[in-house]
Amino acid sequence: MEAALVFNKKKDFLQVLLGFIFVSFFSNILVAQNNKTFTVGSIEADQGEMAKGSLSIEKGIDEGTFIPITIINGAKSGPVLTLVAGIHGTEYVPIITAQKLVKEITPDELSGTLIIVHIANIPAFSSRSDYSSPIDYKNLNRIFPGKIDGTVSERIAFTLSNEIMSKSDYYIDMHGGEFNERIIDYLYFYYGCPDGDLCKKSYQLAHAMGNKYLFPDKYNSVPDSLPSGYSDLEAFRRGVASITLEWGDQGAVKPEEIDKALKGIKNVMKTIGMLEGKPFINENPVYLINEKLVNSNYDGILFTFVDRAQYITKGTLIGYTTDYWGNVLEEYHSPISGIVVVVKICPSINKGESVFRIAEPVDEYKE
Ligand SMILES: [Zn+2]
Repeated sequence: MEAALVFNKKKDFLQVLLGFIFVSFFSNILVAQNNKTFTVGSIEADQGEMAKGSLSIEKGIDEGTFIPITIINGAKSGPVLTLVAGIHGTEYVPIITAQKLVKEITPDELSGTLIIVHIANIPAFSSRSDYSSPIDYKNLNRIFPGKIDGTVSERIAFTLSNEIMSKSDYYIDMHGGEFNERIIDYLYFYYGCPDGDLCKKSYQLAHAMGNKYLFPDKYNSVPDSLPSGYSDLEAFRRGVASITLEWGDQGAVKPEEIDKALKGIKNVMKTIGMLEGKPFINENPVYLINEKLVNSNYDGILFTFVDRAQYITKGTLIGYTTDYWGNVLEEYHSPISGIVVVVKICPSINKGESVFRIAEPVDEYKE
């Protein structure tokens, strides 16, 4: 027993020593990186400078595109935060918020580096396409980590994963209501991940953002054996704390929603030490659990009777779909008692598409 104890003490000492050398070595690298040029693709920002440019997605098995980004490399060292807007083509509040943020943050006041992806999916944005790319018809937020030799959406996902996530400490994927969606302001954060520290950071981001509604998302709801699909999960798997948020609805750009989004992002930056100032904490969020989707089983014309944030009881008739001549094909009833998170308001509906997203609001959630 005694010998084993001595051995363990030696082992512990060695582990501490090695740990110290490891931490010193890598923190020196981190400091060194923060004291020099920050590079993404061919875009370089010297310390204390801002740089703008595009990541090129070269032509492959289909046409190419580009991703416009801004790097703000702070005068002082600190973490790297990436904000991604425009993964979906008609979610405009994050896109306009990102543009405004660049005008309001100076490198001099910044500790660390801010990477802003202004519009991740230019093909979808340019064509005003909801959900999917007009080139390959893929939903960019279902195909991470992407493929270097895949279709254009897969190559965008690959580039975001390898050029941007890999250089980040924090990653926020910013979405909102597409033109056909009424949607509440909410976000997803992770719990129950193997690296508890990463989940703590995701929780911290979520509670700094200021969204009223928060979805705790169990980390392994997508098994590790499957591709991540979602950009925030891909970031997590790469050791980057992440959240996905939703701001604004119906593709509208309302000044009060932009202001709220800007306030949230700046508060996150204060919380993680990138900006000076005392951050606020969202002390009374409403957590959403037991999320249910109601999907259409037909192509047809959609009618819905409920609005975002409306509380409905289980079994309530909430809408129906008709054929093109007006005959009712199916009715929709709420599968749970809860609030409407998303409701589609565009008459055009297709088989397999979700019509309603409903969840139970609670003051506390169980992990
Ligand atoms: Zn989206």
